[in-house]
Amino acid sequence: MSAPSILAKNLRSIGQGLCLLFHGCVRSWDHAARSPRRRLALGIVFGVLPASVAIATYTTYPSDEEQLARSQQIEVVLPLPIPSIDEQINVVTMPSVITTHTTVIRVNDTLGAIFSRLNIEDPALQRFIRGQSLAQPLATPREGVYVQAKVSSDKKAHTLKIFLEARSNQQKNSVITITRKGNRFAIKSSPFVYQTQQTMNAGIVTGTLIQSAINAGVPEEIAQKLPLVFERPIHNGLKVGKGDDFRIIYERQFLDGDFVRNGKILAASITHNGKNYESFWADDGSHTGGYYKLDGTSNRTTFIRVPVEGARVTSSFMPMRRHPVTGVLRPHQGTDFGAPRGNKIFAAADGVISRRAYNKRGYGNYLMIKHDDARTTLYGHMSRIADGMEVGTPVKRGQVIGYVGATGLATGPHLHYELRVNNRQVNPLRTSIPDKERLTQKEQHKLLAEARPLTTRLAMLNRIQSIKPLPQNEKVAQNKAGK
Ligand SMILES: [Zn+2]
Repeated sequence: MSAPSILAKNLRSIGQGLCLLFHGCVRSWDHAARSPRRRLALGIVFGVLPASVAIATYTTYPSDEEQLARSQQIEVVLPLPIPSIDEQINVVTMPSVITTHTTVIRVNDTLGAIFSRLNIEDPALQRFIRGQSLAQPLATPREGVYVQAKVSSDKKAHTLKIFLEARSNQQKNSVITITRKGNRFAIKSSPFVYQTQQTMNAGIVTGTLIQSAINAGVPEEIAQKLPLVFERPIHNGLKVGKGDDFRIIYERQFLDGDFVRNGKILAASITHNGKNYESFWADDGSHTGGYYKLDGTSNRTTFIRVPVEGARVTSSFMPMRRHPVTGVLRPHQGTDFGAPRGNKIFAAADGVISRRAYNKRGYGNYLMIKHDDARTTLYGHMSRIADGMEVGTPVKRGQVIGYVGATGLATGPHLHYELRVNNRQVNPLRTSIPDKERLTQKEQHKLLAEARPLTTRLAMLNRIQSIKPLPQNEKVAQNKAGK
């Protein structure tokens, strides 16, 4: 596509996007949205950035009908100011010109590689960074950190900024700024906030939910998370399939106008067999927050963190430890909860018993529960397995599945508990797997207030998606009336 036609297309898109904001224009949008192909993918950006009030993007090729609809809209073409030859020569030849380069630190990155991506050749700065504790995330590169440099044409950095995101709710995002002052450098730390843009997309499911979202223009990493937002309804039998439609609102984060990363999904809805499923992100006091219905109940599969009565942690999750009975050094990738013999052991989440066995040299009497395609839990050393717990038996979160004991290799009564995600054992006390069944009243009130503008936008997308094509003659009459 040539540059002028890209410009014209963008201006048209902006025009159509703005149309959405004004009632008087809704009819022309409706007309454009009526095409079945158009209905497959609608994307709108609601920006808090000044430069992006509203932009509509389309991922499908326009049909004849759409082209007709577009031809009836006002097209604005603005000439781009072309800099004079003198100005352009200046830009190329002036030594002091400063350009901005950005990068995100990769796995196994080196300071040298980061500098080369930032177009910096500055050994003095490298030495300075290696000697500063504040600059440590760059000296020993920390994956995922966003770095921005203002670089002069002699490849010396004028300023270098390292953006560090908060790792917990108690921390704040901070930016480390290194500034060149003649032959010296100054370094300081200050807080920063992302400029966050909310982006909306909608589409119809044609294959999988994830692929359909990608087809509608949702970034892949966001699309991958979409089923998790509806984890519980999907676990309880919601089968998203062909012809269902979905709407999603997610964040995009910017710094100084540069796109840095996609944020979280804020809200999503799916219409399946005429029934609407909605899910909203809420601050539930956990590090990552969770996804809830407006009534405050969780849309995620929640895990009881300590699935045993009256427990204390006796041996925590660690990669290697000396076995208390055999004395052999081997991985201990579970958590031991010490508890009196006979105390109740609960299913950590809804699932199906996938193994029931006795292992004299290991877990003793143990059960495994399969919760979904990715996650299983294991409960070891039981004195007794509860009645009816056979392979294939469905269990509910909190249901009693057995009793604490010391069968197998154990020094005293305890529950050996493992949580496995994709067959890898993870720390059940540290992982971000949600454990909150419902929001507190205060959290729910906050959710209701924050969800109000989101529900309006989801409803608007739903309305655009649900417009039925008009009979041909009515459409012609409408076109004439519009002229
Ligand atoms: Zn253990």
